[in-house]
Amino acid sequence: MILNAEILDTFDRCPRKLAFSQKWEPRAISPLGLLYTAIESALISPDPEQSAKDETLRIAKSREISTDQNAFTVTRHIGFLAAILVTVLQSRLGQLTRVPATEEWESNLFSTPSGDRHKILLVSALDDDRLRAAAHSWAVIGELVALQSPLTLTAVVIGSQRAGKRHCAWAKGYIHPKFATKLRFRERGAKEDGFGNGWLTIWREQRGEISTEKWISTMAEDGVLDSLIISRTIPFNAEDNRMKIARRDMLEIGEKIKSAREDAPMKRCSCDSVGHGACVWQSVCWSPTETSPDQLPQLYRPISSAARS
Ligand code: SF4
Repeated sequence: MILNAEILDTFDRCPRKLAFSQKWEPRAISPLGLLYTAIESALISPDPEQSAKDETLRIAKSREISTDQNAFTVTRHIGFLAAILVTVLQSRLGQLTRVPATEEWESNLFSTPSGDRHKILLVSALDDDRLRAAAHSWAVIGELVALQSPLTLTAVVIGSQRAGKRHCAWAKGYIHPKFATKLRFRERGAKEDGFGNGWLTIWREQRGEISTEKWISTMAEDGVLDSLIISRTIPFNAEDNRMKIARRDMLEIGEKIKSAREDAPMKRCSCDSVGHGACVWQSVCWSPTETSPDQLPQLYRPISSAARS
């Protein structure tokens, strides 16, 4: 089996979860899952902005969106958010390519024209705890060990999700009540702006006439851009004991994965883990009567038919 960080992470969290996900796929995708999928596809496109919107729509047509809000509104919001994120990422990092898979490892990193490898991470907020958690994850450690080279963790802050929208400057701005072209993200100090006194909240997807370039450049002028994209280089040292242990663990887990069972003991601490939300298999594991994904066709579909659709 070709390993990847998601397999290792899923097995660590719950072997039962890995067993389910090897055969089944939830029919619904979360807004964050939709955003990640659209971004990862569009990042390698020569026209990332349009590609992000197209990919968001394509996925939304084939999967339900797990939201209690209007699915069309959420999809449009995610499409515009994905578009601005890939535009700014590609303008910073250059045209990206996927790091090719090997016989043992499927990488989720992106390579820049100069050969730097980036792990793109979307976070609602970034502090030392979140950075440390990311640095300790299989998404970073697994890539370091498998590729035996350093990587750059590029975290993009997308704000908290409320009522189906991400509250961050990528998606939300303010316009002057009298001058609709006057866009702001925070006060610049000029009193005549009267910022905060009657300025109107606007969402990116509602103002398609404002170009992505204008939105991003105004974020930069208002000084909110650099704090929303943070890159940290993580070195690789083969003699580091942490790398040796991770290598050993990968080999051991690689063997155990083959026997992951759908009836393995539940890992209740992973059912609602912070940062990952509710596990998508809760309808099976937390059902008051015994059930399985094949008995819930309205929620899950076999991986093979999903791949064909
Ligand atoms: S709901 Fe809990 S026990 Fe079931 S697969 Fe998910 S994490 Fe594991």
